[in-house]
Amino acid sequence: MCAAPADGLEAGTTAATGWRDGQLVSTRFDDVYFSRSGGLDESRAVFLEGCGLPQAWAGRQRFTVAELGFGTGLNMLALLDLWASHRPPGATLHLFSIEAHPLPRAVAAKAHQAIDGLNRTLAAALLDQWPQGARGLHRLYFPAIGATLDLMIADAATAVTQWTGKADAWFLDGFAPARNPSMWTDKLLEAVAARTAEGGRAATYTVAGHVRRGLAAAGFQVERLPGFGSKRQRLEACLPGAVSTPPSPRVAIIGAGIAGASLARAFSALDLEATVFAQGPMASANPAALVTPRLAAASSDAAALHAACFRHAVRCYAEMPGAVIANGVTRLLTRDDDLPRARASIESGLFEPGSMQISGGKLAFSHALVVDPAVIRSAWLPAVQPRAVAQITRQFTGARQQMHLHDTKGDVVAEADVVIIAAGMASALLGKVQIRPVRGQVSVSATAPEMPATSWGGYVAPTRHGLIIGATHDRSDSGWDVREADNDRNRAMLAERFPELAARLGPLQGIAGVRAATFHNQPVAGRLRNGVFALTGLGGHGFALAPLLAEHLAARISGVVSPLPAPLARLLGS
Ligand code: SAM
Repeated sequence: MCAAPADGLEAGTTAATGWRDGQLVSTRFDDVYFSRSGGLDESRAVFLEGCGLPQAWAGRQRFTVAELGFGTGLNMLALLDLWASHRPPGATLHLFSIEAHPLPRAVAAKAHQAIDGLNRTLAAALLDQWPQGARGLHRLYFPAIGATLDLMIADAATAVTQWTGKADAWFLDGFAPARNPSMWTDKLLEAVAARTAEGGRAATYTVAGHVRRGLAAAGFQVERLPGFGSKRQRLEACLPGAVSTPPSPRVAIIGAGIAGASLARAFSALDLEATVFAQGPMASANPAALVTPRLAAASSDAAALHAACFRHAVRCYAEMPGAVIANGVTRLLTRDDDLPRARASIESGLFEPGSMQISGGKLAFSHALVVDPAVIRSAWLPAVQPRAVAQITRQFTGARQQMHLHDTKGDVVAEADVVIIAAGMASALLGKVQIRPVRGQVSVSATAPEMPATSWGGYVAPTRHGLIIGATHDRSDSGWDVREADNDRNRAMLAERFPELAARLGPLQGIAGVRAATFHNQPVAGRLRNGVFALTGLGGHGFALAPLLAEHLAARISGVVSPLPAPLARLLGS
């Protein structure tokens, strides 16, 4: 059903470790994670100094650092600590690190404890977000200092070639080349060079001849410098060229549902302001929404995309005060292919171990959530401009392109460098996106017994005041009118599974919405034409998909590295 993702890894290859003289060692590679002479000092001397930090941050609004070999996260913590004290005002730091054999959180915590001088606040923030074993992308946040860390649990050779960023600095920190040759191949060093920005640097503790030659052959100018601790020498490498800084675009977002709100949040995290325009009804207005993962999809990349989005969405909502109504959703495995898909999802290794459990014809997702859309939208949206945008045109002032947003009378209501259409079904007309309407009416009962969130095709879930039952699913119907017949359908659908509950429900109040679905069942998050982008086609999965896809789009538009590996970004079409 769902082949293993093409990340070059067997699922669940947790690190094999032990302790020797108080030092954390890998028994798989028979090497230490960091120097006996002082891990933090080594990180600073070899990697931070080796990449010219913090001096290289002067005048930079964006800076990207990538690493081979995340290990305990010590290098990243040393870097974040330095950034915390030298961050240029409003600047953001984008980190990417790769790990094939993740350490369990408790092992990393023990290793951190033994390190003198470690920034304990940052270490605690890292441990709070520590991946629990799922492969693929984990996006970690350090909002107080404007930093993100994209931690990729995958083999380095695959993860580097799939990364779409260009690093200003690379930390090459595999185990010793003789013990861990896959981290030092010519091909990998070539891929590193291809993903280094002009004028970018790389640093490592080893001066092994083939590493020096590999870096030089890939285009780096390589220099040996006095080493740290017992090492006589270390390497610094520099790619020729000058640093360039992309201009910051003025952004207009059309739509204030979960897609528009997620975009506003993503731009604000990059310290960029985006203006949101919206008028009319939206599909994100229900009193509760389920955030559940899609079960294993036909292709492994699609499964990896949906799993990464789900994981990310859960993290975003879990840390937002008041956003979560309930934790955990149970899915009844009622259709023929439900059980094999559930098993394939667990076996894919894309979800944290233990977070999905099958028993008695049910699949329990302990990480799934019921969230409050109103709380999320009001936390992420700035003041919304109540204007209906009916048309977008492109104008030129000399060579400079500007997008004009017009209202229904044709008047220009705003100008921007970039417009993002995140307007659900209205995106079809505005952006000529290939989407189709799927009408969905939910029914809300304020007088209902308690019931944990359960889905089976339909669903029932708690709201702040009662239960929500849903949703009808009517393709090609774009009616926003509330229909009593659809409340009856929802009650009947519930009665089929939970007759007693259905009988005890009070009066039902309907809320109608129209989902925007694509024909290929994958969302759209990309460029439509010059200056116009879209985030739409999220179907019934908006709350799970939007936060990460919005960050992908905001990154692309502002010249920052996207969190999504290339094969996943390709699925987003447009
Ligand atoms: N930078 C780390 C820190 O701050 O703790 C120490 C890194 S340790 C020297 C090397 C790391 O590379 C280990 O965590 C190991 O599991 C990882 N590694 C080894 N081979 C790998 C591969 N082929 N792909 C990705 N990671 C790999």
